[in-house]
Amino acid sequence: MKSKDLDKNKIGSDITSLIKRLFPICRSITGNGVRETLAILSEKIPLNITETPSGTVVNDWEVPDEWNINEAWIKDSKGNKIICFSNSNLHVLNYSAPINKKVTLSELKEHVFTLPDQPDLIPYRTSYYNKNWGFCMAHNQLIKLKDDEEYTVFIDSTIEPGSLTYGEYLLKGDINQEVILICHICHPSLGNDNLSGIAVATALYNCLKDQKLKYSYRFLFTPATIGSITWLSQNEETIKNIKHGLVLTLLGDEGKFNYKKSREGNTQIDEIVQNVLKLTTKEYKILEFSPYGYDERQFCSPGYNLPVGRLSRTPFAEYPEYHTSADNLDFIKEDKMVESLEKLLNIVSIIENNKNYINLKPKGEPQLGKRGLFRSISGQSNMKNYQMALLWILNQSDGNHSLLDISNKSGIDFDEIKFAADALENVQLIQDINVN
Ligand code: ZN
Repeated sequence: MKSKDLDKNKIGSDITSLIKRLFPICRSITGNGVRETLAILSEKIPLNITETPSGTVVNDWEVPDEWNINEAWIKDSKGNKIICFSNSNLHVLNYSAPINKKVTLSELKEHVFTLPDQPDLIPYRTSYYNKNWGFCMAHNQLIKLKDDEEYTVFIDSTIEPGSLTYGEYLLKGDINQEVILICHICHPSLGNDNLSGIAVATALYNCLKDQKLKYSYRFLFTPATIGSITWLSQNEETIKNIKHGLVLTLLGDEGKFNYKKSREGNTQIDEIVQNVLKLTTKEYKILEFSPYGYDERQFCSPGYNLPVGRLSRTPFAEYPEYHTSADNLDFIKEDKMVESLEKLLNIVSIIENNKNYINLKPKGEPQLGKRGLFRSISGQSNMKNYQMALLWILNQSDGNHSLLDISNKSGIDFDEIKFAADALENVQLIQDINVN
């Protein structure tokens, strides 16, 4: 499916309704919130779910005990609930230990996280590997709490042996070589980070599922860091098939696209994404690889060194709503997520169709008119680009330049180059170098 053929209204409303269903769920790196999320995604994608028991050694890590939570609140001495988990799951420190005790305000303050610079917002905080209990709240609410009050803190959570859960589906193409698309599914009620990535990846699956594909596409929904490390440690054979990969996150805000290159910095996926952004958007930014960010860190660690980049809009921590209650359903925009999907379809089109051709009449320009090529341009909206694309392909097709190289050199969109290459191939002026 080409991005221009999309029913954008239908896709946009599917993306929004999926996000609305997933938003209220309290997710973490383990637990029932992840399972519930994967169960909903399984209605759209036939996911295979893997459970890895707590204590399993995965590379240099160990799968932690599983965290689940039922209820949490703080009450003042009159019994009024001043904070309640059911209003926002961000109110509880993610992975908080259970607690049920009376505390003074000063003791409470040691376990409360706020954002003094954004005093109306609730922060998102985690404590996966240091056992602690805690709450998150608006700073303006904290400063109104009275010193002479006694507070009851109650968190009904469990941290017990269980398992870590991830889901994946391999959409099979003609060849075993894979494109891996990775989304983290461990954040609670936050929109851009990363329900936007999850919903756009799901929409991409929906666009690709009935297409004839050359490559196989693996959709991986996994908790960040420990989830990716677990998957990597369990898939050493699969990893050999990975030809291209993208971490998909932060795809719903109004900012420009940001592409973070793979560790090598010059892999095909790096070139492909840069081509799409250069030729289809006005503003974008290319980031060099760094060992900080999302799960590209794991896929691009030296022991794997996979060709995996990261496609986002505004990068993490560069927008003030990041990891706060303001990263909500109002913050993410349906049209921006549809646009993110369009970019992914452009990327897939290049992955699927990039080829090297050889010009079969390379001595001088072949005569295009007698082969009917100028007649076939009548249906093309951009006639000049089409003519130029024909000339560029004929000139560059010496076997060493791919259609992607030609798109880059000519500044003509890959899909237009591909359309012109098909026309030249049909009249036997060029030949795929891999076909004898
Ligand atoms: Zn995050």
